[in-house]
Amino acid sequence: QSKAKGKNAYFLFTQEVNLRISKRLKLENDMRQALKNREFTVYFQPKVNLFNDVVTGMEALVRWHKPDGTVVSPADFIPLAEETGLIVPLGEYVMDASCKAMQLFEGIGCDDISIAVNLSPIQFDQEDLVEMITEKLEMNGVSPSKIELEITESTLMTNVEKSIAKLNMLVDMGMSISIDDFGTGHSSLYYLKNFPIDRLKIDRSFIRDITTDESDAQIVETIILMAGNLGIGVVAEGAETKEQIDMLQSFNCELVQGYYYSPPLPLEDVIVYLRSEGVDCHI
Ligand code: C2E
Ligand code: MG
Ligand code: MG
Ligand code: MG
Repeated sequence: QSKAKGKNAYFLFTQEVNLRISKRLKLENDMRQALKNREFTVYFQPKVNLFNDVVTGMEALVRWHKPDGTVVSPADFIPLAEETGLIVPLGEYVMDASCKAMQLFEGIGCDDISIAVNLSPIQFDQEDLVEMITEKLEMNGVSPSKIELEITESTLMTNVEKSIAKLNMLVDMGMSISIDDFGTGHSSLYYLKNFPIDRLKIDRSFIRDITTDESDAQIVETIILMAGNLGIGVVAEGAETKEQIDMLQSFNCELVQGYYYSPPLPLEDVIVYLRSEGVDCHI
């Protein structure tokens, strides 16, 4: 009887694995198709300076609009895009769309806005990353100083020497570098000292309970102090309430990105946002 049970469990297991594989294959296929059919679009989320309420930049965040009207969040396809290498053409598209958005922002007088583009580990590892970015910038007439690259801690720590060399190349071109999701990876003080970093983006998980959790508040305040002492900027990710903003302000946090100011918006809506009363994009 137990043998039969075992067989049954095995059968269910293979069935489950097969189902997962076919789901994955379907998603991969759908994604290839989606790239061809231009189903991906880039949303932009403003980043605001808490000292003067000026919008200093936008983060480019990709979205997948399926023909059936559903919107797939990047959390559901970036990992597979990484595994399959599709992240490379997708990343190229995001860089191009970001440069085109930059032209539009400049066109409405917001010439001091920067755009932050996420780079996943596979993208960062591409031999021709610098060429790809240079090409997109030149094609669209955008200055490298307008582009900020967001890289996570783990991306940098897989090969430290190589990462430092690559970051230096990007910085020499005139771009700036942010550490994304700061606090969730290795959080090595080593790279704060040795990598050419412009900014830390404090992960949303530390901001979420900042007004109720004493240790989160301490951690955030300490990161801001430390970054300040090192001459590195900070962005608090995911601030949603006035109370969180007030607390961040009391910690002398310079920049905030979060639903409190705006969710990521399609380009048309960002333009409306930038033009709306009370929003200032000038330094
Ligand atoms: P991320 O780079 O850390 O981006 C910030 C995420 O936090 C975004 O999720 C944004 O919508 C969300 N967020 C911002 N403010 C708030 C808030 O106040 N509350 C809450 N609950 N969430 C907030 P999104 O757009 O779903 O992107 C998820 C992740 O997918 C990104 O995390 C990034 O790692 C990745 N990703 C998105 N676009 C790209 C891309 O073009 N290329 C690559 N390589 N990765 C991307
Ligand atoms: Mg990011
Ligand atoms: Mg982040
Ligand atoms: Mg994240």
